[in-house]
Amino acid sequence: SLTAGIVGLPNVGKSTLFNAITKAGVEAANYPFATIDPNVGVVEVPDERLNKLTELVKPKKTVPTTFEFTDIAGIVKGASKGEGLGNKFLANIRQVDAICHVVRCFEDDNITHVSGKVDPLDDVETINLELIFADLESIEKRYTRISKIARTKDKDALYELAILDKIKETLEAGKSARTIEFTPEEEVYVKNLFLLTTKPVLYVANISEEDVIAGGDNEMVQAVRAFAATEDAEVVTVCARIEEEVAELDDEEKAEFLKELGIEQSGLDQLIQKAYTLLGLGTYFTAGEKEVRAWTFKLGMKAPQTAGIIHSDFERGFIRAETVSYDDLLQYGSMQAAKEAGRVRLEGKDYVVQDGDVMEFRFNV
Ligand code: GDP
Repeated sequence: SLTAGIVGLPNVGKSTLFNAITKAGVEAANYPFATIDPNVGVVEVPDERLNKLTELVKPKKTVPTTFEFTDIAGIVKGASKGEGLGNKFLANIRQVDAICHVVRCFEDDNITHVSGKVDPLDDVETINLELIFADLESIEKRYTRISKIARTKDKDALYELAILDKIKETLEAGKSARTIEFTPEEEVYVKNLFLLTTKPVLYVANISEEDVIAGGDNEMVQAVRAFAATEDAEVVTVCARIEEEVAELDDEEKAEFLKELGIEQSGLDQLIQKAYTLLGLGTYFTAGEKEVRAWTFKLGMKAPQTAGIIHSDFERGFIRAETVSYDDLLQYGSMQAAKEAGRVRLEGKDYVVQDGDVMEFRFNV
């Protein structure tokens, strides 16, 4: 399954945030795989639609879909040269599908900052440069190999060489490769390079308790937003300390606590939703009397593949999928009523599943 890695300099609040994630996380007993790696936290994806479907269908059980975060500790300046746990850090980051980059945007004289002052843009740059250096190294290696082939005027190699040149130029200017707009043809080559700076990134601005309550962005967050805009990246603000407290509460207590603070949605819930979108994920539902359940799929997947997420037999023996959109089901109030209104479709194996589809699969065993 897909995972978002949490990275950031020391003392920015990563562990506090990761604690919140594991505390808020699903019970290990329900998800045995979650216990394998202590660096992985599995959370439920908050989804208002699932609650509404539960009210409508009144099933025996409701099961939300889940999302994984991986705690990637250990980056310091010089990581790309193997300082600290540098190499391990870079190897771990290579494994994740998206990066949640935690940035300290709170002042607190009791908590030392690695570089002596709180300066989010400086922090962001420190980490990004390590990733850029690592990518430059990958590019150089590839360059050496491909330029040998290119000398024979191999068209394919010459094409790749031009791409490598473009990336190299960007990296050398201190910019991440994600700032380059590649054509779909180029993408094929870029994917094979397994670069770090092409991974989608979400900046997580860790703000103080006071700033959460005050609402609005402080100057540090504004600076991070301005930078993120240059990379087409998103920003979410959280107060890791508050999230850690909120994570211990049940749903009702949580709602009350947030209301008291005047917060609409917890920062962690926003983080989960943004990370989900960042990874190009969607949710479809199954809604039977026994169980109403949300399932994660990759946007663009066709019906048989999404059926395969439930069980490989569903994919192998796929015949059709009875499909209704969440909005239609809610509007007509029941599957039967939606059918009578002609809103339920029988979709075949080429159907591209949409976020919010409610599906029932027909299959041969
Ligand atoms: P890490 O090194 O990035 O994992 O950082 P930690 O999570 O260990 O946090 C470093 C210190 O900052 C700890 O003393 C935390 O309690 C504190 N801290 C983390 N988040 C917040 C926050 O939102 N507000 C304040 N005031 N302190 C925080």
